[in-house]
Amino acid sequence: MENTFQIIQQVAFAAVFLTANYIMIKRFLFIRRNILLGKPEDRSGNFVQRFKTMVMMALGQKQMFDRPLAGIMHFTIYAGFLLINVEVLEIVLDGLLGTHRLFAPLFGSFYTFLISFFEILAFGVVVSCVIFFSRRNLLKLPRFTKPEMKGWPTLDANLILVWEIVLMCALFNMNGTDLVLQTRAGESAYVAEHYHQTGQFAISGTFVGFFENFSTPTLIALERIAWWIHIVGILIFAIYITYSKHLHIFLAFPNTFFSNLTPHGKMENMPSVTNEVNIMLGIGGAGEEEVSQDDSEVPTFGAKDVTDLTWKNLLDAYSCTECGRCTSVCPANQTGKLLSPRKIMMDTRNRLEEVGKGIDKNGKEFSDDKSLYGDYTTKEELMACTTCNACVEACPININPLEIILQQRRYIAMEESSTPASWNAMFTNIENNFAPWAFPASERFKWAEEIQQNEDKQ
Ligand code: SF4
Ligand code: SF4
Repeated sequence: MENTFQIIQQVAFAAVFLTANYIMIKRFLFIRRNILLGKPEDRSGNFVQRFKTMVMMALGQKQMFDRPLAGIMHFTIYAGFLLINVEVLEIVLDGLLGTHRLFAPLFGSFYTFLISFFEILAFGVVVSCVIFFSRRNLLKLPRFTKPEMKGWPTLDANLILVWEIVLMCALFNMNGTDLVLQTRAGESAYVAEHYHQTGQFAISGTFVGFFENFSTPTLIALERIAWWIHIVGILIFAIYITYSKHLHIFLAFPNTFFSNLTPHGKMENMPSVTNEVNIMLGIGGAGEEEVSQDDSEVPTFGAKDVTDLTWKNLLDAYSCTECGRCTSVCPANQTGKLLSPRKIMMDTRNRLEEVGKGIDKNGKEFSDDKSLYGDYTTKEELMACTTCNACVEACPININPLEIILQQRRYIAMEESSTPASWNAMFTNIENNFAPWAFPASERFKWAEEIQQNEDKQ
């Protein structure tokens, strides 16, 4: 009977595990394909510097500690997530092999230390999640209540926090009941065989008194239910995050690795425009930048849709944590303008998901007469950007919302020719006078001459 129970559990676990992995791999391939819909951009080379940036930003969470309290809590959740994978590995192997606490006899007393350490981290995760939940829902921090956070984004953030608390509570329940069952080895062969002596664990050891009066079958049921909730919950979590902002848990690594290593303020020129200007100035050729020699290729200036952006812009969009640090430092947003760099990233990801689903359904030539600019972002938002770079500096995972804003603005200026009249006057001045002012270059030092004349008169 107990053997049959064990086999049913093993088969059920294998089915759940394989299904979850199938969904995750499918989703991973979908996201990868979507990112590669972007235009090519060379982010190779400088491996050591890239690796260092990734370790500092993604693994070391360097920027998070600019706000120490939030940084420590975030780091606790993050470390808990990383280290608890050792425990998840044991649970998965137990599920597939029909064993129980496979690592306990192998590691001996180190196992007790390891699980205790995980439990302390898990306790930290619960405390941090409760504080994060309160900050969002009770204190209502301004950056979490901006218009773009209404509806799904807030629900998504809350769901994850609650889910993490549930997972950690299941872990404590699983370990607490296990500890009591370890003292009942004499009651059945199943208990003796499954519930190895492990020594007391740091947090669940304090629940032993609570479970002590429960009957052995009840304890086994509670331990098994908690085990299933914990592992199925983790698998659901792993699938769910591929649909949510929590994808940054994985994508923060490639995203920081492929960061732009040039100074943040450096704007990339448009090769086709550089070429035209070089020809006008008689310099000739494509200059430093390569331009396609294929006459049939009509260059598009700027970006109207996500496919006009680079693959790195699209990776940025999928990596965004929606933390709002960029929006909270954005001078345009602070002065009541419509622009929020976080919303630009969310819009880009939402549109990219829409395009990806469309391609899956209708093939590569899919078109829905919609676009990022116009259907998601508006001219008013894009024109409000001062290009100050504050959002780029503030992002904890080196996302660059400004590049996406600039590319759309280039589209507005060069494809739509619909920049405001005051901007057009400035463009004309730059073209004619090499400066934004309406004075010829030859008169640029007139003010100095006038000062000199006044001084001579004195
Ligand atoms: S670069 Fe633009 S979007 Fe970014 S902070 Fe400055 S004004 Fe805001
Ligand atoms: S772009 Fe960066 S700072 Fe802005 S919301 Fe996304 S992760 Fe946060």
